[in-house]
Amino acid sequence: MIKVEELRSKLKTVFGYDSFRGTQEKIILNLLAGKNTFVIMPTGAGKSMCYQMPAIMSEGTAIVISPLIALMKNQVDQMNAVGVKAGFLNSTLTKTEIKRIKKNTLNGELKLLYIAPESLTKPENIDFLSQAEVSFAAIDEAHCISEWGHDFRPEYRRIKSIIGELGNIPIIALTATATPKVQLDIQRNLQMEEADVFKSSFNRENLYYEVRPKKGVKKQLIKFIRENEGKSGIIYCLSRKKVEEIASFLKVNGFNAAPYHAGFDSAVRIKNQDDFLNEEVDIIVATIAFGMGIDKPDVRFVIHYDVPKSLEGYYQETGRAGRDGLEGQCIMFYSYNDILKLEKFNKDKPVTEKENSKVLLAEMASYSESAVCRRKQLLHYFGEEYKDSHCRESQMCDNCKYEREKFEGKEDVKKTLEAVLQTKERFGLNHLVSVIRGSQNQYVKSYEHDKLAIFGAGKDQDDAYWTTVIRQTLLNEYLYKDIEYVGVLKLSQKGKDFLKMPQSVTLYKDLDYSDVDEIEDEQNELSTNIHKGDGYDKVLYELLKAERKKIAKVKALPPYVIIQEPSLQEMATTYPTTKEALSNVNGIGMGKVQKFGASFIKLIQKYVEENDIDIEDVVVIKTAGSKSKNKIYIIQQIDRKIGLEEVAEQKGWTMETLLEEIEHIVFAGTKLNLDYYLDEILDEDLQEEIMDYFMNAESDDIDLAMEEFEEDLGEEDLRLMRIKFISEYAN
Ligand code: ADP
Repeated sequence: MIKVEELRSKLKTVFGYDSFRGTQEKIILNLLAGKNTFVIMPTGAGKSMCYQMPAIMSEGTAIVISPLIALMKNQVDQMNAVGVKAGFLNSTLTKTEIKRIKKNTLNGELKLLYIAPESLTKPENIDFLSQAEVSFAAIDEAHCISEWGHDFRPEYRRIKSIIGELGNIPIIALTATATPKVQLDIQRNLQMEEADVFKSSFNRENLYYEVRPKKGVKKQLIKFIRENEGKSGIIYCLSRKKVEEIASFLKVNGFNAAPYHAGFDSAVRIKNQDDFLNEEVDIIVATIAFGMGIDKPDVRFVIHYDVPKSLEGYYQETGRAGRDGLEGQCIMFYSYNDILKLEKFNKDKPVTEKENSKVLLAEMASYSESAVCRRKQLLHYFGEEYKDSHCRESQMCDNCKYEREKFEGKEDVKKTLEAVLQTKERFGLNHLVSVIRGSQNQYVKSYEHDKLAIFGAGKDQDDAYWTTVIRQTLLNEYLYKDIEYVGVLKLSQKGKDFLKMPQSVTLYKDLDYSDVDEIEDEQNELSTNIHKGDGYDKVLYELLKAERKKIAKVKALPPYVIIQEPSLQEMATTYPTTKEALSNVNGIGMGKVQKFGASFIKLIQKYVEENDIDIEDVVVIKTAGSKSKNKIYIIQQIDRKIGLEEVAEQKGWTMETLLEEIEHIVFAGTKLNLDYYLDEILDEDLQEEIMDYFMNAESDDIDLAMEEFEEDLGEEDLRLMRIKFISEYAN
């Protein structure tokens, strides 16, 4: 019999922690008593401890089944670092490594053996495991068992039969996401319906949830990030293409952002992830491939640029904000177009999967469009009732923060409950809507529901109205979802009591997203923000030019290095009077503002004042303009340190074209670091000499430079060095 004291002292000696968190201790004791155990705990709450500690305390080896191959090595390293012998079996190992792991398991050395599900199902591994002394099996990310979860993995369904072959060993299943339906699925599939369930609250009080119409998103994004400058944040996009586009867009606008998705080389992924963890980079723009196992405590915002595929996924991703219990803003941009797009992606999936995805998407849409407290909706989705008024008092979601349109729902809730009762608690939302509205469809007729008293009782309102009424009747717990039959709604005790004595119920009108049209919007966004250059203030322009000359003289730099003409023209159009505003001018980044900005700002301020010019407080967005596609491509390739020959070749360009493109980018104010390439082709001393030359030359003319360096250097080399010079001194 394990003593609690023994556990606690091990916790201190092995892990260095003073006490168990939440229900960890109870869970550990339960498993050590040989009982099947089911743990549902939010991310970061400390699930791993629930099997690590029992593994240490037991004879033999515990097997841990986990789908996250990338994280296995981490976990094993962590265990080995605290002196607990652990290993893993997955497809990344060589034959020799596999042999060694097997040997160490069979001779009882390993306390923990992590296995990927696809390795577990291999016959040779089943054989090997049946020879080993297995203390228990932990099934991590157990929601992967369920087709109703957001991350279904068919191999997970075979786990139980394989474990069964190893004898009667206890099972601990763990997940951070499980709707009641998924929970049932997991327990059934693992044949552990009798298991003790330890479910922690999923409420994250410090997280603020908001859904915004997906309209003028880029503008909103810039504004939000500017207000939260310097804070760590994650922006999730659905496609790799969007990830790259948004990361570049943010960079062009002077933010410290990096992209992340599974299509990058692992070296780039690791670098960008590390840069984010080490705060070299503030914002990571990523697909959902990013974040699994990322334990950065001070992520201050998580933005969903696109609508996620399910509320489970959404909740997991937002869960990465504010892990330290401090600020965490979760903003999602919503448009029904996104839902339709996602539905289209699903069209080639097998029928059941397609249907499931559709249900998940419908939940996502209804969450987004509802004016009911977000927290209440999210927790309800995970089977938790949120009664607290804390969210409203502290305004921790948009629906609690802003005034939403309400109405008295007593009569409609009554009609809803009557409809459920009269149809014998055997139907789902859509059918109930048809019955209440009096729609004569084939189903209604086949069940003779058109003969019911409730038929047509709500014909004055439309489908959308009844859909939200029924959903809110569910959210308010008058109804509950039947877990066995997906979609079927039944009367709860609260609902039965209500019918006996109806009371006032406040319902909310859905939010109106009808004017969201993303495509048109993006075009508008671009066209209003590209500054064409004509129609600028000529007087101011001349003043700015004179100022530039002055600064160039003082700084002993050529004027072209200070600010380029098109930027001056833009300044004479937008009248930037603050550092922020100036840094928004195309061709001028914050670096340039710090270096040369002050006197320009002063000049414009004076000019604006003297001439009574009204500057609107608009958010100006930099776009990369018509050449944006090439620009983004080039910035990305250079970020990835791809050789320039290869960059040109991929586009079918000559080196000349590529150089022109790069010059265009750099002369417009973007910093590009070509050192990785230059260091290969020119030695250090020569580079220094050329930099010196450009610093002292009258003009940046390449012909003049060629005369100076005569045969030593070609035109290409000099142009590349000029790019380096402008990048370093001007941008
Ligand atoms: P989950 O798997 O639930 O997302 P982890 O198991 O990764 O969470 O644990 C999250 C963090 O909490 C880890 O850094 C872990 O070391 C730490 N942790 C777990 N249990 C305790 C404890 N009892 N005391 C202090 N820290 C703990």
